Amino acid sequence: MPTVVIAGAGLVGALNACFFAQKGWNVVVYEFRRDIRTMKHVQGRSINLALSNRGKAALEAVGLKEYIVQQGVPMYARLVHNKDGKTFSRQPYGKPGEHIVSINRRHLNEVMITQAEKSPNVKFFFEHKVKSVDYEKKQLVVQCTSQPSRIPTFGNKASQPEEHPEIHVEADLILACDGAYSAVRRSLMTIPRFDFVQEYIEHGYVELNILAKNNEFAFEENVFHLWPRGHLTLIALANRDKTFTVTIFAPYAEFEKHMSNTEDVFAFFQENFPDAFELLGREHIADTFSRVKPQPLVSVKCSPHSFFGNLVLMGDAAHAMVPFYGQGMNCGFEDCLVLSETLEEFGDDIETAIKAYSDRRVPDAHSINDLAMYNYEELKDLVNRNSYKLRKMFDTF
Ligand code: FAD
Repeated sequence: MPTVVIAGAGLVGALNACFFAQKGWNVVVYEFRRDIRTMKHVQGRSINLALSNRGKAALEAVGLKEYIVQQGVPMYARLVHNKDGKTFSRQPYGKPGEHIVSINRRHLNEVMITQAEKSPNVKFFFEHKVKSVDYEKKQLVVQCTSQPSRIPTFGNKASQPEEHPEIHVEADLILACDGAYSAVRRSLMTIPRFDFVQEYIEHGYVELNILAKNNEFAFEENVFHLWPRGHLTLIALANRDKTFTVTIFAPYAEFEKHMSNTEDVFAFFQENFPDAFELLGREHIADTFSRVKPQPLVSVKCSPHSFFGNLVLMGDAAHAMVPFYGQGMNCGFEDCLVLSETLEEFGDDIETAIKAYSDRRVPDAHSINDLAMYNYEELKDLVNRNSYKLRKMFDTF
């Protein structure tokens, strides 16, 4: 059986591991972080995500859809909160019963790693950093980052940590799923005719939390909560533990202007999101803004997605997008499904298959990336629009 080496055990890397485990390939995954299943707190992006049909179809192909959907909170509509804090408008996502699902990122990631590991031919190496790709030799360069052993020394000299050596890994297929700041993609930059565009938008985001009230959801759970305020946006998605993860998106300049001291932050929330302000509570808002800095939002497009007959960029490594269309992970999951189907179509002629994959996937990835950016531009202008346009705008998120 061929060997696939995967860089990154995030959402897309872990799902790829499930796909290739199912095919019976030998699967080796190198992940920079420790095993998240053993960690108390996992640092990183959005705590929960909206899973839509695109992502569900990929999970179904590895037998995980039902379980994952059951573990989430269905959202049948978006509920737009008006500025008075008392009135709302409700916009169903589709026909009765159709819904997207709020999923906990960490849980989803853990379930996929555990599922892949059930196959004896799958091995995860945590605390292993992918440094680059050696494209002359078509190998991945990896280094273990676990606590280095100490060289015993004598006398007064402090002991020097010993670096783990870099290892060069060969494989029939290498999948770069190492996220928006991909080390693999970075090392491809000098390849002739590799197109690459990166854009940071002026907005950043901060995540907050609404706790359960008397052991119940503090407000309606089966909807996507949205507070559109022109250049500011607040969203809230429910979690299974009856909390809500709340995200504020604002230009960095606004964060600096209104949120640098506690009284300003309170006034800002009270004015723009009065109902959310009550539920979030002063203490939690003050604590969050004293500890947390806004996180940047980046959009990446590149072409092609396949190289040297054995390397593919996938997920955010290939197409990081702004989150206003709720499709980054969903699109990454679809990558896994399309690659799996393309390999089957070409009878596992890897070189031809990944070239075909890239030819098919690049235009789709660019389109969805553009839609996400378009939604961001529209969002900034949303309060000035009538409800019909508003409904069209958030067709996905
Ligand atoms: P990541 O999730 O970033 O995983 C990359 C993995 O690679 C990580 O485990 C990392 O530790 C590892 N890694 C990184 N560098 C190295 C290295 N050098 N060596 C080894 N390992 C490495 N998408 C949706 O579909 N729906 C949503 O509702 C949604 N909401 C979002 C909200 C916000 C605020 C943000 C920022 C994003 C949102 N997204 C959403 C997008 C989604 O988070 C990403 O598209 C998704 O996480 C991409 O998965 P990935 O596996 O490609 O990358």
